[in-house]
Amino acid sequence: MKHCINCGAEIADDASVCPDCGVNQTTSLEGGHGDRSTNEKYCVDCGELINKQAELCPACGVEQPSHDSGSTDTDKVAAGVLALLLGGLGAHKFYQGNMKLGVVYLCFFWTGIPAVLGLVEGILILIADDEEYEAKFADGSLLGR
Ligand SMILES: [Zn+2]
Ligand SMILES: [Zn+2]
Repeated sequence: MKHCINCGAEIADDASVCPDCGVNQTTSLEGGHGDRSTNEKYCVDCGELINKQAELCPACGVEQPSHDSGSTDTDKVAAGVLALLLGGLGAHKFYQGNMKLGVVYLCFFWTGIPAVLGLVEGILILIADDEEYEAKFADGSLLGR
């Protein structure tokens, strides 16, 4: 069992949403809840109230799941920049884990077409917002889905 970061109730280890309060366990908490103030969360392991930013629980020393929200953003920008600069080599496809398409880009590098596609994709990726990127481009499909 682990503790809900929002209400401190005991929930299943693999639960992503707390059945008690309905809060997603991967979210960064906003506002307080019951005894918990805005800048606190419950330790997933021992259920003590701890600082929201704490990486380790001061009471039990267990590492807290991190919620750095910037990660998708970094992926998106990195993929977009790779597409612009090294799109002709399929670098952004490899980065996004689409090896097949990456190899296709690489094989047709000499035609110059992948470079053009990369340029277009780079721009589309960079102007897309996070949700759009996740939905259309994150898996490295050709010119988005
Ligand atoms: Zn809860
Ligand atoms: Zn703890």
